[in-house]
Amino acid sequence: MNTTVSKITNNSLEIAKKLIENEELVAFPTETVYGLGGLATSDNAVQKIFTAKGRPSDNPLIVHVHSGYDLTKLVSVEHPYVYDLLKAFTPGPLTLVLKSKGVVSKYVSCGLDTLAIRIPSHEGCQKFLKTVNLPIAAPSANVSKHTSPVTSEHVYADLNGKLSLILDGGKCIGGIESTVLDVTSETPLILRSGLITRDMIISVVGKCEYADKPVGDKVRSPGMKYTHYTPKCDTVLFSRSELDLAQKAYDNYLSLGKTPYFMCDNIVSQKLNGNKLLLGTTAEEIASNLYYKLLEGEKVADVIIAVKIQTGSEIDVGVMNRLEKACKPYKKEGEL
Ligand code: AMP
Ligand code: MG
Repeated sequence: MNTTVSKITNNSLEIAKKLIENEELVAFPTETVYGLGGLATSDNAVQKIFTAKGRPSDNPLIVHVHSGYDLTKLVSVEHPYVYDLLKAFTPGPLTLVLKSKGVVSKYVSCGLDTLAIRIPSHEGCQKFLKTVNLPIAAPSANVSKHTSPVTSEHVYADLNGKLSLILDGGKCIGGIESTVLDVTSETPLILRSGLITRDMIISVVGKCEYADKPVGDKVRSPGMKYTHYTPKCDTVLFSRSELDLAQKAYDNYLSLGKTPYFMCDNIVSQKLNGNKLLLGTTAEEIASNLYYKLLEGEKVADVIIAVKIQTGSEIDVGVMNRLEKACKPYKKEGEL
């Protein structure tokens, strides 16, 4: 299959609409990362998404709709606070898990009776969703377990030949995936951290919890149990109190003839010597740069030596969740 990359124009949007209607796949930008979209009501299109990514069949997909779409066609809203959340944070990087009405393909939710819905704010994405005017199932547009893409080039590098069209909307600003929030109970539960933080949700609903542990034997967010976000080079993680060790590891890799790069914020950077992938200073900047730097890093480095971030913002929770999943613990050559 030929994969075309195209800027978002009236012409490319019309082509995208036809492809989606014909159950083909189209990648598109959002304010978080690029998505790999297919018609959510089509078993065929949804199965193509799982195949193209090599995604485990028990990891459900998020359905994307435009801001004028009537969500109640797809889900039941059981708690009035959901409307407050919609008003406060959508369109934007928040995914809501609600009771499904069973309208979309059964493969979208992998057997769960809920459906995850998102209304992205990215202008080009809204144009795409409005032109299509159908619910679009879309995971991140990367091969399963690899780092999520934040440019059309990243999508092309991973999925060339596995989809028809990539809509190019430049670099994604948010940089990490949406906050996934289960709103089927009295208290909203964060299944995946992101740029819409617990504090922000509490400011609207008055309460919100992290669901990082399974309740009983029920896995609440199946996707979170898998390794994720790993670049193609080795990646090791050090805490901020281990900068001496991180520098030793760097020097050790160098002496072995390898090309190491530090990946750290601009403050920690001042205490380290060597090649660097700089993440910035504020939590928003760091989130925005994280995947971009991992994906740039894998092209030039044999090993990325990452240092944990700590800005004091609650966004750190989402960034650290990704960083810990992307990295392995450091072991000196020869150690078990
Ligand atoms: P990705 O598409 O790679 O951003 O992953 C989507 C995330 O949303 C995964 O962590 C899924 O487990 C989660 N998700 C999607 N649908 C549901 C659902 N119905 N219930 C709980 N989590 C969901
Ligand atoms: Mg993903």
